Amino acid sequence: MPNTIPEIDCDVAVIGGGIAGLSAAITAMHAGAETIVIEKAPKLQRGGNSAIADAQIRYPHEPDAYCPTGQTKEDFFAAFMKVSRGRANKDLIRVVVENAADVVDWLSELGVQWEKGYPNVAGYRRQPLGGGWQLVDTLYKHLERGGVHVAYETAAEQLLTDRSGRVVGVRVLEPEGYTDIKARGGVIIACGGFEANVEMRVRYLGRFMDNIILRGSRYNTGDGLRMALAIGAQPAGQWGDFHSAVLDARSTPFECGVTAIYIFQLGLFIDEDGERFLDEGEDFRDQTYVKFSKAIMNHKSGVAFNVFDDKVRSEDPEVWKRAIRTSEEPYEAHSIRDLAALLQIPPERMERAIREYNAACQSGVFDPLQLDGLSTKGLAVNKTNWARPLDTPPFLAYPVTGGITFTFGGLKANTDAQVLHTSGRIIPGLYVAGEPMGELYYYNYMGATSVLRGAVFGRIAGHHAAQARLAQ
Ligand SMILES: Cc1cc2nc3c(=O)[nH]c(=O)nc-3n(C[C@H](O)[C@H](O)[C@H](O)COP(=O)(O)OP(=O)(O)OC[C@H]3O[C@@H](n4cnc5c(N)ncnc54)[C@H](O)[C@@H]3O)c2cc1C
Repeated sequence: MPNTIPEIDCDVAVIGGGIAGLSAAITAMHAGAETIVIEKAPKLQRGGNSAIADAQIRYPHEPDAYCPTGQTKEDFFAAFMKVSRGRANKDLIRVVVENAADVVDWLSELGVQWEKGYPNVAGYRRQPLGGGWQLVDTLYKHLERGGVHVAYETAAEQLLTDRSGRVVGVRVLEPEGYTDIKARGGVIIACGGFEANVEMRVRYLGRFMDNIILRGSRYNTGDGLRMALAIGAQPAGQWGDFHSAVLDARSTPFECGVTAIYIFQLGLFIDEDGERFLDEGEDFRDQTYVKFSKAIMNHKSGVAFNVFDDKVRSEDPEVWKRAIRTSEEPYEAHSIRDLAALLQIPPERMERAIREYNAACQSGVFDPLQLDGLSTKGLAVNKTNWARPLDTPPFLAYPVTGGITFTFGGLKANTDAQVLHTSGRIIPGLYVAGEPMGELYYYNYMGATSVLRGAVFGRIAGHHAAQARLAQ
């Protein structure tokens, strides 16, 4: 084998073939740029977290039968800012909000099929029929028809720069060895966060983060972040935090996929000592599931029980089926005492907690689609909405904990998806989209917005990288 590293040329090199990378590549291709997608996974595992996800996309919409409240752009923007406690980059969020509805139309034009009438609360959303797998498969097929080369089992390793600091390509490791891919328009980093990198997790997220359920792709090991930081890119956003969800604690520890309980707000969280410890009804679950999952992980042993009575299941079995995403069966018993015994919780304490909770419930109209204000009164930990007594057997419980989906820390970027240097100047030829873009999420997350932001900034990055090439 010759010892020189072979080179190939293109206009736009996209690192990562999830929603962000695919959106970038399709946009660059449509603009006439010769585009290459570099994907670390084998073809059968392509698509990253995007393929493993439900891939729900939330966007501003007029009220209709499925979303009685509707959602204006201003509502969307305000909710986004609220969950980050005002810290998210307003300019980036504004771009996401302004482009959200257009992204859904664009994906539809590319052939993405959607589930019909997806019931929802707090914001209109679409879910691809067949979830994220169908979404990415449709986009890959579009790229393939357009003649774009996807290099599978090829890991981007190092950004190549010229003397001016411009990124002119990327060194990749293929099964045969290294190749330098020269990209005249630019390189787009779209290869996920560091959720699957145990060393980076411990370094940035904490000493026990070696042992956490990984929900998504094993290939998102922070390579894009590492490569960009090595050439002076500015880190931005909350490097010490991450996305999680209220998961069945019996989920497989690795690439477990969607095993979440998405209806926890209609039940109670009970800890191992039989006590409530969270205001389950604080807000719509879209606004609370990430922070609650982390609160559970940080509480006592890190596992709690999401307890329901039969009302929640039997009143709307369709919603129950959609919202309980684990394939594991719940623990089920005809009395709280028997349920506690199954859960190995002190029965008298759990009985007391639920008796006190039931007694604190007030009369009022229950409405799971609204913040109904049906709250408990006088408890140390009240439930602010959807507080109805647990009084209808059988009683059900799922053991719940958190897991890691993606990391919040990223690169500083402008609204054209260009990456900034620590000196403050733009790094010419370098773009970022999706998980490795910083400043979108802090502390918490707003449901159904990560696929969206990947598509929005992927399109923007693809557009600008292609235009940079065409302008030469
Ligand atoms: C179980 C689950 C459910 C979810 N549900 C939703 C939801 O309903 N709605 C929502 O908005 N979000 C959801 N998310 C989050 C969302 O799916 C992701 O954050 C988003 O899809 C990430 O898109 P991306 O393109 O940035 O990254 P990814 O889709 O993860 O793509 C990154 C790609 O880069 C590749 N890669 C990594 N390193 C390299 C390298 N060195 N060289 C080349 N390629 C590399 C990976 O193989 C991967 O294909 C969910 C995630 C999971 C895991």
